Parts: sequence; structure tokens; C-alpha cells
Amino acid sequence: MNMVLLGPPGAGKGTQAGFLTTAYDLLHVSTGDMLRETVKEDSKTGREIAEYMNRGELVADSIVTRAVIERMSRPDAGAGVILDGYPRTRTQAESLDRSLKESGKSLDVVFYFKTSEDVAIRRLSGRRVCENCGRNYHVVNMPPSKDGVCDICGEKLFQREDDRPETVKNRLFVYGESTEDLIEYYRASGLLREVNGDTPAEELFEEIKALLLKESLI
Ligand code: AMP
Repeated sequence: MNMVLLGPPGAGKGTQAGFLTTAYDLLHVSTGDMLRETVKEDSKTGREIAEYMNRGELVADSIVTRAVIERMSRPDAGAGVILDGYPRTRTQAESLDRSLKESGKSLDVVFYFKTSEDVAIRRLSGRRVCENCGRNYHVVNMPPSKDGVCDICGEKLFQREDDRPETVKNRLFVYGESTEDLIEYYRASGLLREVNGDTPAEELFEEIKALLLKESLI
């Protein structure tokens, strides 16, 4: 099963992707995580990418698309992928369709997390991430057992540079600019399923599972 999770930053896509990969044999492909890994390498490309990310702007389609397609061609993507944060534009959606077609694959479902702006802002401002395993927490909604420490691997939690209020505003603006076209694209394809991103994470997961079951995808 190949699935896309669409929605603004702070919609909870990463959290649901985490639940889904734990429950089913799917690979979580987060373009944000992949780009952050490239930034860590401290190369020229990494430094260029960091500038865009820290301003809350989109990284060039060509860079992101190449990385996603390469990741999806590896053996561990065989049982299917959850695309989180990709596509973000109609051009990316068209590139994805072309590449899936070339490799004899297709998308099965696109979940659109319709989320109110104040919920997204609250989630992003309270988000903390493990610097080692990447697991997400929230200071109020999903705190770790020990303050500032990851429950899974015991490493330190940090606040993402682009989760600061000034950048969050721009990320939501950039999302709003490109999203309508993208949602229409998937609505027209018949794959779009709308869920309420404001719903608490565990409850939303139950809803997503029920939808997948109804469509005989699990
Ligand atoms: P995320 O972790 O999904 O919130 O992404 C963090 C940042 O990575 C975004 O604000 C963009 O700068 C960049 N990014 C992630 N996915 C994409 C994409 N599909 N296209 C362009 N830029 C992206």
C-alpha cells in the first residue's frame, strides 16, 4: 500500500505515520527528515537546503523529488510507503505519479488532515524532537516520561529551528499557497480522504484504521 499524508505543518502527519509504520509493514518517508539529514552532513547542498528550511520556504522540487524517488526504489520500500510532507506542490504530485507509473506502482490513498491554524501553531510551538532517533514529543500533549529526554533511546530532545514562531508563520503561509491545487489534484483522482487533523492523535489513528479497513487496504 502506498499512501500520502497531506496537511499543514503541525497537522500530526508524522505522528500518524509513526503509528502506521508500527502497526503495518510500511516505510515512513518524511522529506523533512531526509532534508534534515542532508543538512547535518554540512555540505554545500546541505547549507543551501538549511537556508530554505530555516526561512520556512520550500526546497527545490528537483532536489526533493530525486531524494524521494531514490528512497522509494530501495528494497525496504517494497511493501509500501507512507509519504509524509511529499508531495507539497502539484508539480511534485505529477512527478510522483510519473515515477510510480514507470516502476509499475501506484498510490492507494491520500489522507488530507484538515487542521485549524491555532491547533497547528500550538502543536509546532510545543514540539520537541529527539536528536538521535527523531521521535517527536509535545511538552503538553505528549510529554516524555523524563523532561527533555527521549523515552526510546535516552538522548536529548531539542526544538527544531523552524518551529520558532516567526518561521512557523511563514511555513503555514507557504503551505496555504500551494495546497489548494494539490488537494484538487488528488480530489479529482478520487484518492482523497479528508480527516480532521484537530482530533487527538490516538483517536485519529482509530479513524484512519477504520477508513483503511473499509477500503480493504489493511
Ligand atoms: P516538515 O518536516 O515536513 O515540516 O518540512 C520541513 C521543511 O523541509 C519545510 O518547511 C521545507 O523547507 C522542507 N521540505 C519538506 N518537504 C518538502 C517538499 N516536499 N518540498 C519542498 N520542501 C520541503
